[in-house]
Amino acid sequence: MTVTGAIWRDQLTADERAVLGRSDDGVAGATPDVLVVGGGIVGVATAFACAEAGLGAVLLIETGRLGAGATGGAAGLLIPEPHQWSDPEPFVDLERASLERWRDLQRGLPDGVGLVELDWLGLAPHDSGFAAHQPRDVEWLNPGQVAELVPGLARPMEGAFIRRQGRVNPLRAVARLAARLPAVVTGVAATSLTISGDRVVSVGTSSGAISPGVVVFATGRPPVLDGLPLHLPSERVKGHLLVTERTDVRLPGIVAPVATQIEDGRLLTGGTFDVGDETPAVQPDVIDSITAGVAAVLPRLRGLGVAYQWCCFRPRHPDSRPVIDKVPGLANAWLTSGHFRTGILNAPATAAVLSRWIAHDVPPVDARSWSATRFGAP
Ligand SMILES: Cc1cc2nc3c(=O)[nH]c(=O)nc-3n(C[C@H](O)[C@H](O)[C@H](O)COP(=O)(O)OP(=O)(O)OC[C@H]3O[C@@H](n4cnc5c(N)ncnc54)[C@H](O)[C@@H]3O)c2cc1C
Repeated sequence: MTVTGAIWRDQLTADERAVLGRSDDGVAGATPDVLVVGGGIVGVATAFACAEAGLGAVLLIETGRLGAGATGGAAGLLIPEPHQWSDPEPFVDLERASLERWRDLQRGLPDGVGLVELDWLGLAPHDSGFAAHQPRDVEWLNPGQVAELVPGLARPMEGAFIRRQGRVNPLRAVARLAARLPAVVTGVAATSLTISGDRVVSVGTSSGAISPGVVVFATGRPPVLDGLPLHLPSERVKGHLLVTERTDVRLPGIVAPVATQIEDGRLLTGGTFDVGDETPAVQPDVIDSITAGVAAVLPRLRGLGVAYQWCCFRPRHPDSRPVIDKVPGLANAWLTSGHFRTGILNAPATAAVLSRWIAHDVPPVDARSWSATRFGAP
Protein backbone atom coordinates (compact mmCIF):
# COMPACT_ATOMS: atom_id res chain seq x y z
CA MET A 1 0.00 0.00 0.00
CA THR A 2 1.28 3.46 -0.84
CA VAL A 3 1.07 6.22 1.75
CA THR A 4 0.31 9.63 0.26
CA GLY A 5 2.45 11.87 2.44
CA ALA A 6 6.10 12.38 3.21
CA ILE A 7 8.02 9.64 5.02
CA TRP A 8 9.73 12.10 7.36
CA ARG A 9 7.12 12.23 10.12
CA ASP A 10 6.99 8.43 10.34
CA GLN A 11 10.73 8.41 11.04
CA LEU A 12 10.41 10.66 14.11
CA THR A 13 10.21 9.61 17.72
CA ALA A 14 7.05 10.48 19.65
CA ASP A 15 8.96 13.28 21.41
CA GLU A 16 10.15 14.75 18.10
CA ARG A 17 6.61 14.65 16.73
CA ALA A 18 5.35 16.43 19.82
CA VAL A 19 7.86 19.25 19.34
CA LEU A 20 6.37 20.02 15.91
CA GLY A 21 3.12 21.00 17.66
CA ARG A 22 4.85 22.77 20.53
CA SER A 23 2.84 25.66 21.97
CA ASP A 24 4.10 27.49 25.01
CA ASP A 25 2.27 30.32 26.76
CA GLY A 26 -0.08 32.53 24.75
CA VAL A 27 1.28 35.33 22.63
CA ALA A 28 -1.09 38.18 23.52
CA GLY A 29 0.85 41.02 25.11
CA ALA A 30 4.22 39.31 24.60
CA THR A 31 7.25 41.59 24.30
CA PRO A 32 10.04 39.38 22.93
CA ASP A 33 13.35 40.90 21.93
CA VAL A 34 13.17 38.88 18.71
CA LEU A 35 9.97 37.61 17.10
CA VAL A 36 10.37 35.11 14.27
CA VAL A 37 7.31 34.55 12.11
CA GLY A 38 7.27 31.18 10.32
CA GLY A 39 8.17 27.75 11.61
CA GLY A 40 9.77 26.16 8.56
CA ILE A 41 13.44 25.23 8.64
CA VAL A 42 14.52 28.81 7.90
CA GLY A 43 12.46 30.35 10.71
CA VAL A 44 13.42 27.66 13.22
CA ALA A 45 17.11 27.90 12.34
CA THR A 46 16.92 31.71 12.58
CA ALA A 47 15.24 31.64 15.99
CA PHE A 48 17.86 29.11 17.12
CA ALA A 49 20.73 31.30 15.88
CA CYS A 50 19.28 34.41 17.54
CA ALA A 51 18.86 32.57 20.84
CA GLU A 52 22.36 31.12 20.53
CA ALA A 53 23.76 34.61 19.85
CA GLY A 54 22.23 35.87 23.10
CA LEU A 55 19.82 38.31 21.47
CA GLY A 56 17.45 38.15 24.44
CA ALA A 57 14.00 36.59 24.57
CA VAL A 58 13.23 34.89 21.26
CA LEU A 59 9.68 33.89 20.33
CA LEU A 60 8.76 31.90 17.22
CA ILE A 61 5.18 31.74 15.95
CA GLU A 62 3.85 29.43 13.23
CA THR A 63 0.40 29.36 11.75
CA GLY A 64 0.23 25.56 11.49
CA ARG A 65 2.64 22.97 12.87
CA LEU A 66 6.39 23.39 12.59
CA GLY A 67 7.63 22.17 9.22
CA ALA A 68 4.14 22.11 7.72
CA GLY A 69 5.15 24.13 4.65
CA ALA A 70 7.77 23.34 2.01
CA THR A 71 10.13 22.10 4.70
CA GLY A 72 8.12 18.99 5.55
CA GLY A 73 7.99 17.93 1.92
CA ALA A 74 11.61 18.52 0.93
CA ALA A 75 14.10 15.82 0.01
CA GLY A 76 16.51 17.21 2.60
CA LEU A 77 19.61 16.94 0.42
CA LEU A 78 22.54 19.17 1.38
CA ILE A 79 24.62 19.20 -1.79
CA PRO A 80 26.45 22.47 -2.43
CA GLU A 81 29.18 21.13 -4.72
CA PRO A 82 26.97 19.83 -7.56
CA HIS A 83 25.27 23.21 -7.59
CA GLN A 84 28.42 24.72 -9.05
CA TRP A 85 27.05 23.52 -12.38
CA SER A 86 23.85 25.51 -11.95
CA ASP A 87 24.21 28.33 -9.41
CA PRO A 88 26.25 31.55 -9.34
CA GLU A 89 29.33 31.72 -7.13
CA PRO A 90 27.93 33.79 -4.19
CA PHE A 91 25.10 31.29 -3.99
CA VAL A 92 27.40 28.29 -3.90
CA ASP A 93 29.50 30.05 -1.24
CA LEU A 94 26.38 30.45 0.89
CA GLU A 95 25.58 26.76 0.35
CA ARG A 96 29.08 25.64 1.32
CA ALA A 97 29.03 27.79 4.43
CA SER A 98 25.66 26.36 5.29
CA LEU A 99 26.76 22.73 5.01
CA GLU A 100 29.60 23.59 7.38
CA ARG A 101 27.08 25.15 9.73
CA TRP A 102 24.94 21.97 9.54
CA ARG A 103 28.05 20.07 10.61
CA ASP A 104 28.54 22.49 13.53
CA LEU A 105 24.94 21.94 14.59
CA GLN A 106 25.35 18.18 14.33
CA ARG A 107 28.41 18.34 16.60
CA GLY A 108 27.04 21.04 18.91
CA LEU A 109 23.63 19.66 19.86
CA PRO A 110 23.58 16.74 22.28
CA ASP A 111 21.54 14.58 19.85
CA GLY A 112 22.73 16.34 16.70
CA VAL A 113 20.27 17.34 13.99
CA GLY A 114 20.19 14.01 12.20
CA LEU A 115 22.81 15.00 9.62
CA VAL A 116 23.89 12.08 7.45
CA GLU A 117 27.09 12.61 5.49
CA LEU A 118 27.07 10.85 2.13
CA ASP A 119 28.68 11.00 -1.28
CA TRP A 120 27.12 12.29 -4.49
CA LEU A 121 27.53 10.57 -7.84
CA GLY A 122 26.26 12.31 -10.96
CA LEU A 123 25.84 10.07 -13.97
CA ALA A 124 26.40 11.36 -17.49
CA PRO A 125 26.90 9.64 -20.82
CA HIS A 126 30.32 11.34 -21.03
CA ASP A 127 32.13 14.06 -19.09
CA SER A 128 31.06 16.79 -21.49
CA GLY A 129 27.56 15.88 -20.37
CA PHE A 130 28.25 18.37 -17.60
CA ALA A 131 28.66 22.14 -18.05
CA ALA A 132 31.94 23.54 -19.29
CA HIS A 133 33.29 24.81 -15.99
CA GLN A 134 34.13 21.90 -13.75
CA PRO A 135 33.57 22.15 -10.04
CA ARG A 136 36.27 21.71 -7.47
CA ASP A 137 36.39 18.53 -5.46
CA VAL A 138 35.04 16.42 -8.30
CA GLU A 139 36.57 13.06 -9.20
CA TRP A 140 35.83 11.87 -12.73
CA LEU A 141 34.99 8.19 -12.90
CA ASN A 142 35.16 6.11 -16.06
CA PRO A 143 32.32 3.71 -16.93
CA GLY A 144 34.11 0.80 -15.27
CA GLN A 145 34.49 2.68 -12.00
CA VAL A 146 30.88 3.81 -12.15
CA ALA A 147 29.72 0.23 -12.79
CA GLU A 148 31.56 -0.92 -9.67
CA LEU A 149 29.65 1.61 -7.58
CA VAL A 150 26.31 1.13 -9.36
CA PRO A 151 26.13 -2.29 -10.98
CA GLY A 152 23.44 -2.96 -13.56
CA LEU A 153 23.15 0.43 -15.28
CA ALA A 154 21.26 0.28 -18.56
CA ARG A 155 24.30 1.58 -20.42
CA PRO A 156 27.89 2.56 -19.63
CA MET A 157 28.16 5.99 -18.12
CA GLU A 158 30.83 8.36 -16.88
CA GLY A 159 30.40 9.76 -13.42
CA ALA A 160 31.22 12.86 -11.43
CA PHE A 161 31.90 11.80 -7.85
CA ILE A 162 31.84 14.30 -4.98
CA ARG A 163 32.52 13.19 -1.45
CA ARG A 164 31.05 14.35 1.83
CA GLN A 165 27.80 16.01 0.93
CA GLY A 166 24.84 15.50 3.26
CA ARG A 167 21.19 15.05 3.93
CA VAL A 168 18.75 15.42 6.81
CA ASN A 169 15.23 14.35 7.58
CA PRO A 170 13.99 17.97 7.45
CA LEU A 171 11.36 17.43 10.13
CA ARG A 172 13.85 15.83 12.49
CA ALA A 173 16.19 18.79 12.03
CA VAL A 174 13.29 21.18 12.74
CA ALA A 175 12.27 19.20 15.82
CA ARG A 176 15.81 18.97 17.20
CA LEU A 177 16.37 22.72 16.80
CA ALA A 178 12.90 23.72 17.96
CA ALA A 179 13.24 21.63 21.12
CA ARG A 180 16.00 24.02 22.17
CA LEU A 181 14.15 27.26 21.45
CA PRO A 182 13.10 29.35 24.42
CA ALA A 183 9.54 29.97 23.22
CA VAL A 184 7.45 28.52 20.39
CA VAL A 185 3.75 28.96 19.70
CA THR A 186 2.14 26.99 16.87
CA GLY A 187 -1.34 27.55 15.52
CA VAL A 188 -0.90 31.33 15.52
CA ALA A 189 -0.71 33.44 12.35
CA ALA A 190 0.74 36.92 12.02
CA THR A 191 -1.95 38.99 10.34
CA SER A 192 -1.00 42.67 10.56
CA LEU A 193 1.70 45.18 11.40
CA THR A 194 1.55 48.50 13.19
CA ILE A 195 4.38 50.77 12.09
CA SER A 196 5.46 54.03 13.67
CA GLY A 197 8.04 55.99 11.70
CA ASP A 198 10.55 53.36 10.56
CA ARG A 199 9.78 50.86 13.32
CA VAL A 200 7.41 47.97 13.75
CA VAL A 201 5.77 48.57 17.10
CA SER A 202 3.28 45.73 17.05
CA VAL A 203 2.54 42.52 15.16
CA GLY A 204 -1.11 41.55 15.14
CA THR A 205 -1.76 37.82 15.25
CA SER A 206 -4.73 35.49 15.29
CA SER A 207 -4.17 35.27 19.03
CA GLY A 208 -3.50 38.87 20.03
CA ALA A 209 -0.83 41.52 19.51
CA ILE A 210 2.90 41.09 20.10
CA SER A 211 5.29 44.02 20.64
CA PRO A 212 8.72 42.78 19.57
CA GLY A 213 12.09 44.51 19.69
CA VAL A 214 12.79 43.18 16.20
CA VAL A 215 10.84 40.87 13.91
CA VAL A 216 12.07 38.41 11.28
CA PHE A 217 9.66 37.11 8.66
CA ALA A 218 10.57 33.61 7.44
CA THR A 219 7.27 32.78 5.84
CA GLY A 220 8.40 30.82 2.77
CA ARG A 221 7.02 33.32 0.29
CA PRO A 222 7.17 37.00 1.29
CA PRO A 223 4.78 37.89 4.11
CA VAL A 224 1.38 39.33 3.23
CA LEU A 225 0.13 41.35 6.20
CA ASP A 226 -2.24 44.23 6.68
CA GLY A 227 -0.16 47.35 7.18
CA LEU A 228 2.94 45.98 5.44
CA PRO A 229 3.52 47.69 2.09
CA LEU A 230 5.66 44.94 0.56
CA HIS A 231 5.13 43.47 -2.87
CA LEU A 232 7.95 41.18 -3.93
CA PRO A 233 7.45 39.03 -7.00
CA SER A 234 7.28 35.36 -6.09
CA GLU A 235 5.63 32.14 -7.14
CA ARG A 236 5.62 28.54 -6.01
CA VAL A 237 6.87 25.55 -7.95
CA LYS A 238 5.40 22.16 -7.21
CA GLY A 239 7.56 19.07 -6.93
CA HIS A 240 6.87 15.35 -6.43
CA LEU A 241 8.97 12.91 -4.44
CA LEU A 242 8.63 9.23 -3.58
CA VAL A 243 10.23 6.66 -1.31
CA THR A 244 10.36 3.04 -2.40
CA GLU A 245 9.69 -0.15 -0.52
CA ARG A 246 12.77 -1.74 1.03
CA THR A 247 15.16 -3.17 -1.53
CA ASP A 248 18.46 -5.03 -1.61
CA VAL A 249 19.78 -2.53 -4.15
CA ARG A 250 22.41 -0.38 -2.46
CA LEU A 251 23.47 2.97 -3.88
CA PRO A 252 26.67 4.77 -2.91
CA GLY A 253 24.84 7.75 -1.39
CA ILE A 254 23.06 10.11 -3.77
CA VAL A 255 23.09 8.92 -7.37
CA ALA A 256 21.72 11.57 -9.72
CA PRO A 257 19.41 11.12 -11.54
CA VAL A 258 18.50 7.79 -9.93
CA ALA A 259 17.88 8.03 -6.19
CA THR A 260 19.29 8.58 -2.71
CA GLN A 261 19.84 5.71 -0.33
CA ILE A 262 17.98 6.35 2.91
CA GLU A 263 17.23 4.32 6.02
CA ASP A 264 15.85 0.78 6.02
CA GLY A 265 17.12 -0.02 2.52
CA ARG A 266 14.70 2.44 0.95
CA LEU A 267 15.38 4.81 -1.93
CA LEU A 268 14.27 8.44 -2.15
CA THR A 269 13.74 9.81 -5.64
CA GLY A 270 11.92 12.47 -7.66
CA GLY A 271 12.17 16.19 -7.12
CA THR A 272 10.25 17.18 -10.24
CA PHE A 273 9.63 20.78 -11.26
CA ASP A 274 5.94 20.82 -12.13
CA VAL A 275 5.75 24.44 -13.20
CA GLY A 276 2.19 25.68 -13.53
CA ASP A 277 0.60 22.82 -11.56
CA GLU A 278 -1.13 24.60 -8.70
CA THR A 279 -3.17 21.61 -7.54
CA PRO A 280 -2.24 20.30 -4.08
CA ALA A 281 -2.77 16.65 -5.07
CA VAL A 282 -0.17 14.06 -6.02
CA GLN A 283 -0.44 13.37 -9.74
CA PRO A 284 -0.20 9.62 -10.49
CA ASP A 285 1.24 10.25 -13.96
CA VAL A 286 4.13 12.22 -12.44
CA ILE A 287 4.84 9.39 -9.97
CA ASP A 288 4.75 6.93 -12.90
CA SER A 289 7.18 9.08 -14.87
CA ILE A 290 9.58 9.14 -11.91
CA THR A 291 9.56 5.36 -11.48
CA ALA A 292 9.87 4.85 -15.24
CA GLY A 293 12.82 7.24 -15.39
CA VAL A 294 14.61 5.44 -12.56
CA ALA A 295 14.04 2.01 -14.14
CA ALA A 296 15.29 3.28 -17.49
CA VAL A 297 18.67 4.10 -15.91
CA LEU A 298 18.80 1.19 -13.47
CA PRO A 299 16.59 -1.65 -14.76
CA ARG A 300 17.02 -3.63 -11.51
CA LEU A 301 14.62 -1.16 -9.92
CA ARG A 302 11.79 -1.90 -12.34
CA GLY A 303 8.69 -2.99 -10.43
CA LEU A 304 9.96 -1.79 -7.05
CA GLY A 305 6.94 -0.64 -5.05
CA VAL A 306 6.28 2.93 -3.99
CA ALA A 307 5.86 3.15 -0.20
CA TYR A 308 5.41 6.94 0.12
CA GLN A 309 4.52 9.52 -2.48
CA TRP A 310 4.00 13.23 -1.94
CA CYS A 311 4.29 16.69 -3.40
CA CYS A 312 5.01 20.15 -2.06
CA PHE A 313 5.64 23.67 -3.29
CA ARG A 314 8.95 25.49 -3.44
CA PRO A 315 8.79 29.25 -2.83
CA ARG A 316 10.65 31.08 -5.60
CA HIS A 317 11.59 34.61 -6.63
CA PRO A 318 12.07 35.33 -10.36
CA ASP A 319 15.86 34.79 -10.23
CA SER A 320 15.53 31.63 -8.12
CA ARG A 321 17.60 33.14 -5.32
CA PRO A 322 16.38 33.91 -1.82
CA VAL A 323 15.80 37.31 -0.29
CA ILE A 324 17.77 37.84 2.93
CA ASP A 325 17.34 41.49 3.82
CA LYS A 326 15.87 44.12 6.03
CA VAL A 327 12.29 44.92 5.16
CA PRO A 328 12.74 48.04 3.02
CA GLY A 329 12.01 51.19 5.02
CA LEU A 330 11.97 49.47 8.40
CA ALA A 331 14.77 49.62 10.97
CA ASN A 332 13.73 46.64 13.10
CA ALA A 333 12.27 44.13 10.61
CA TRP A 334 14.00 41.54 8.44
CA LEU A 335 12.71 39.03 5.94
CA THR A 336 13.96 35.95 4.20
CA SER A 337 11.92 34.26 1.49
CA GLY A 338 12.05 32.36 -1.79
CA HIS A 339 14.53 29.68 -0.78
CA PHE A 340 13.26 27.61 -3.72
CA ARG A 341 15.14 24.29 -4.00
CA THR A 342 17.88 24.84 -1.40
CA GLY A 343 16.10 26.16 1.69
CA ILE A 344 16.98 23.16 3.82
CA LEU A 345 20.62 23.43 2.84
CA ASN A 346 20.79 27.20 3.25
CA ALA A 347 18.79 27.59 6.45
CA PRO A 348 21.70 27.62 8.92
CA ALA A 349 23.79 30.09 6.90
CA THR A 350 20.77 32.32 6.35
CA ALA A 351 20.11 32.17 10.07
CA ALA A 352 23.70 33.09 10.86
CA VAL A 353 23.57 36.06 8.47
CA LEU A 354 20.35 37.33 10.03
CA SER A 355 21.41 36.91 13.66
CA ARG A 356 24.72 38.69 12.96
CA TRP A 357 22.92 41.50 11.15
CA ILE A 358 20.47 41.93 14.03
CA ALA A 359 23.17 41.74 16.71
CA HIS A 360 25.87 43.86 15.10
CA ASP A 361 24.12 45.73 12.29
CA VAL A 362 26.41 43.97 9.79
CA PRO A 363 24.78 43.06 6.47
CA PRO A 364 26.11 40.07 4.49
CA VAL A 365 29.11 40.56 2.21
CA ASP A 366 27.11 40.07 -0.99
CA ALA A 367 24.10 41.99 0.27
CA ARG A 368 23.00 42.91 -3.27
CA SER A 369 22.66 39.24 -4.20
CA TRP A 370 20.01 38.74 -1.54
CA SER A 371 18.37 42.18 -1.46
CA ALA A 372 14.62 42.70 -1.48
CA THR A 373 15.02 45.68 -3.82
CA ARG A 374 16.80 43.84 -6.65
CA PHE A 375 13.45 43.31 -8.39
CA GLY A 376 12.71 47.04 -8.36
CA ALA A 377 10.76 49.04 -5.79
CA PRO A 378 9.09 46.58 -3.40
C1 LIG B 1 9.93 18.48 -3.93
C2 LIG B 1 10.88 19.36 -3.18
C3 LIG B 1 12.15 18.93 -2.88
C4 LIG B 1 13.03 19.75 -2.19
N1 LIG B 1 14.27 19.26 -1.90
C5 LIG B 1 15.16 20.05 -1.24
C6 LIG B 1 16.45 19.55 -0.93
O1 LIG B 1 16.77 18.40 -1.21
N2 LIG B 1 17.33 20.38 -0.30
C7 LIG B 1 16.98 21.67 0.03
O2 LIG B 1 17.83 22.37 0.58
N3 LIG B 1 15.75 22.16 -0.25
C8 LIG B 1 14.84 21.38 -0.87
N4 LIG B 1 13.60 21.87 -1.18
C9 LIG B 1 13.30 23.28 -0.89
C10 LIG B 1 12.88 23.49 0.56
O3 LIG B 1 11.80 22.67 0.86
C11 LIG B 1 12.49 24.95 0.78
O4 LIG B 1 13.41 25.83 0.19
C12 LIG B 1 12.48 25.24 2.28
O5 LIG B 1 11.68 24.30 2.94
C13 LIG B 1 11.93 26.63 2.54
O6 LIG B 1 11.86 26.76 3.94
P1 LIG B 1 11.14 28.00 4.59
O7 LIG B 1 11.27 27.85 6.08
O8 LIG B 1 11.62 29.25 3.96
O9 LIG B 1 9.63 27.87 4.12
P2 LIG B 1 8.42 26.88 4.68
O10 LIG B 1 8.95 25.57 5.00
O11 LIG B 1 7.36 27.02 3.70
O12 LIG B 1 8.10 27.60 6.05
C14 LIG B 1 7.41 28.82 6.13
C15 LIG B 1 6.43 28.70 7.28
O13 LIG B 1 5.87 29.97 7.56
C16 LIG B 1 4.55 29.76 7.97
N5 LIG B 1 3.83 31.01 7.78
C17 LIG B 1 3.57 31.63 6.59
N6 LIG B 1 2.89 32.79 6.82
C18 LIG B 1 2.76 32.89 8.16
C19 LIG B 1 2.13 33.86 9.00
N7 LIG B 1 1.54 34.96 8.48
N8 LIG B 1 2.14 33.66 10.34
C20 LIG B 1 2.74 32.55 10.88
N9 LIG B 1 3.33 31.60 10.11
C21 LIG B 1 3.35 31.77 8.78
C22 LIG B 1 4.05 28.63 7.07
O14 LIG B 1 2.95 27.97 7.66
C23 LIG B 1 5.28 27.75 6.98
O15 LIG B 1 5.29 26.69 7.94
C24 LIG B 1 12.65 21.05 -1.82
C25 LIG B 1 11.36 21.48 -2.07
C26 LIG B 1 10.48 20.65 -2.73
C27 LIG B 1 9.07 21.13 -2.97
